[in-house]
Amino acid sequence: MEKTDILSLSYEELERKLLQIGEKKFRALQVFQWLHDKKVPSFDKMTNISAQTRALLEEEFYINSLKIQKRLVSSIDNTVKYLYVLPDGNKAETVLMEYHHGNSICLSTQVGCKFCASTKAGFVRNLEPSEILLQIYESERDSGRSVDSVVLMGIGEPLDNFDNVVKFLHIISHKSGRNMSLRHISLSTCGLADKIRKLAEMKLGLTLSVSLHAPTDEKRSSIMPVNKKYPIKELISACDNYFKTTGRRISFEFALIKGVNDDTETARELIALLKPLGVCHINLIPINEIREGDYKKSEFVESFKKILCGSDLNATVRRTLGADIEAACGQLRRDNT
Ligand code: SAH
Repeated sequence: MEKTDILSLSYEELERKLLQIGEKKFRALQVFQWLHDKKVPSFDKMTNISAQTRALLEEEFYINSLKIQKRLVSSIDNTVKYLYVLPDGNKAETVLMEYHHGNSICLSTQVGCKFCASTKAGFVRNLEPSEILLQIYESERDSGRSVDSVVLMGIGEPLDNFDNVVKFLHIISHKSGRNMSLRHISLSTCGLADKIRKLAEMKLGLTLSVSLHAPTDEKRSSIMPVNKKYPIKELISACDNYFKTTGRRISFEFALIKGVNDDTETARELIALLKPLGVCHINLIPINEIREGDYKKSEFVESFKKILCGSDLNATVRRTLGADIEAACGQLRRDNT
């Protein structure tokens, strides 16, 4: 019989599994605390559980783990980039960042991605809930820093791995475990409109970030092929529904690319597109030049921001962290080179 990945189980699933193997309901609380609060790597460390029960757990379950293959520390801003090896040999990258308000971690949700125009190696597989979670646990253990907020903005499209990501959100926010408020978690999507609607229905209270990058279909499709499947009108309508259903304002990511989307006319089109939404936030990203791409940095980031703010839109410029270790937005590529 194949063993179950116990770190991928929500509290309720763990309870059910334990009942199935003849354990009492309260056992779930003990086991969950050992796994997600004390973070023990093996069942024999669960000292308030009898040896007999520990043997039973060992038979039914395994505790997943990640290995650090490489750790790079930025000499500019202390950002740490981890390259993790997953149990099947695939790789996942994670970035730990320091802000004045605390530590933030950027997690990957898939091995590869189906949607990124610039991803050289394509999609391989979804990450399990435990593999998403362990990026936090292992980075905290290794660095000695405690993570205050999470962004699902690493490699992969989180909404394309919907069930595992939602399960990860349930586990990380459970009061008997890591107990992280979902208000401290942001999920970034390339714009899968149907999944944005599905997420809204769950009313989880997390922040939704949408990679917009262009205000018209023609331009957005040329930067992001996914726009052909979910055109802007459909995307914005799903965002509007998310805001109305959850009360959480959307954050739109807009990477400014020289000569592509950094001119005054684009700023005006963006204002016309987003104003009707009411409250929202625009996160301008100075594009990071990547080895494979030919997009160049724009010199107009500040003036672009001024135009948006002048129309009472809430716009800020994202700080670039970890540029010297290729840990900034768009620079992750799960390799070892
Ligand atoms: N699939 C999700 C999660 C990845 S988030 C999404 O698309 O939102 C990564 C963010 O960095 C996205 O907004 C992406 O568009 C942006 N990005 C990609 N390449 C970049 C680059 N070279 N410079 C700056 N931002 C980049």
